Amino acid sequence: MRTEDARAVAEAVARRQGMLTEMAREIWRRPELGLLEFRASERQARALEAEGFSVRRGVGGMATAIRAGWGEGRPVIAMLGEFDALPGLSQTDAPRREALEPGGSGHGCGHNLLGTAALGAALALKDVLAARGLGGTVLYLGCPAEESVDAKAFMAADGAFEDVDVAFYFHPGDATAASLSSCLATATATFTFRGAAAHAAADPERGRSALDAVELMDVGVNYLREHVPPDVRIHYTITDGGGAPNVVPERAASLYFVRAKNRAHVDAAYARVVDCARGAALMTGTEVDVRLVDGLWNILPNEVAARLLAEAMRLIGPVGFDADDRAWARAMAEHLPPGAREEAEARYRALGWSPGEEPDAALLMDESLGVVGRGEVGFYSTDAGDVSWIVPTGFLGVATAPVGTPGHSWQNVAAAGSGVGMKGMLYAAKAMALAGLGFVLEPGRVAEARAEFARATAQSPYRRVVEELVPPPHVPPDAPWRA
Ligand SMILES: [Zn+2]
Repeated sequence: MRTEDARAVAEAVARRQGMLTEMAREIWRRPELGLLEFRASERQARALEAEGFSVRRGVGGMATAIRAGWGEGRPVIAMLGEFDALPGLSQTDAPRREALEPGGSGHGCGHNLLGTAALGAALALKDVLAARGLGGTVLYLGCPAEESVDAKAFMAADGAFEDVDVAFYFHPGDATAASLSSCLATATATFTFRGAAAHAAADPERGRSALDAVELMDVGVNYLREHVPPDVRIHYTITDGGGAPNVVPERAASLYFVRAKNRAHVDAAYARVVDCARGAALMTGTEVDVRLVDGLWNILPNEVAARLLAEAMRLIGPVGFDADDRAWARAMAEHLPPGAREEAEARYRALGWSPGEEPDAALLMDESLGVVGRGEVGFYSTDAGDVSWIVPTGFLGVATAPVGTPGHSWQNVAAAGSGVGMKGMLYAAKAMALAGLGFVLEPGRVAEARAEFARATAQSPYRRVVEELVPPPHVPPDAPWRA
């Protein structure tokens, strides 16, 4: 990759700046929850068709999942997009708490930027390949419901990643860097106990309490905590605790998340949680129905892809935040949680960040930190983790929010609709397009990335954890989410 490659990619993104920012803003303005992203998905499908991509709507059984392709031959480069919002986070782009629609949803994770950047990257890469007569295939994968289900695993089962050589995944945030950090794998399960109802005072000996079973299971799991590896996280809620106290509860249920740094740790801990449930059922004379509803893999980073992304960002230069952006960030900084900004700034400076001399330059990360996060594990989970075990995947963050902005917050929603967010989105599009071009220009790097991937996955090949896609509770029974 050379400077003229960076220039060609930057121009291809710049030509679409209006279209891309309007798309990102519109998806932000009309937030849609997971599996219900009908408007966002259709808007993206049309934009891709208008640029000559062939678009498949409805992938993996989900109506809002799309797979769009352009070009021919190898390598096959996939840009991963998302567009789902979070409930209850409605917010304008003003740097103060102000709902756009009281009680409404909002883009607290910036997926309006995530999906639009990936789409922009696909279009820009297509342009450069076409202009230079280069072979290679560009894919855009519009992936629904990242916040609620393992949608990418179902897209994979439907062939969405077939023949893909490498994938790129950008996440909005407060830092600009290629990332080698991992995250937590998960198992999410419901435990429904059934006993026998009886008058709790008059006939308690006839009753078998499903609530007792729920509570005894929780007690068992809370003792189990001492005897699992330190990276294991187990959390639960009681989703059904019975009704009136004078009736022995016939039915009671709980919802569990088990997380750990890899699939094997999760599977081992989860098996013991299930044992606690069976033990509790035996103790109480009840029956238990266990349903594994979701299971995500941790992120498997790829060094080759990360290095290429870092190189791409170095060639492109800074994001280009200006005095207006910094003024907005200054106003927003007043509303960040106490100490959040200082803590984040210290962390980034320790990684080698030296913000420029302009006033408030430390509020927005304009230049890439390079490759960060080697050996680190973030305490979150994502179905992009599944993809990283299916194809070599390059991960990057680009600042779309002031340093210290917490995820899933109203502050993050405001940033995702602001000029700062739009600049970060366009930059991420350029970075991914250029890294993709890098793979096309140097096929040896594709082979290297694939060899690294093959070594890393030899011991634990990918398998889908959940059999059936269970829609999240916010999806109405009559919603047309199935493809
Ligand atoms: Zn997210």
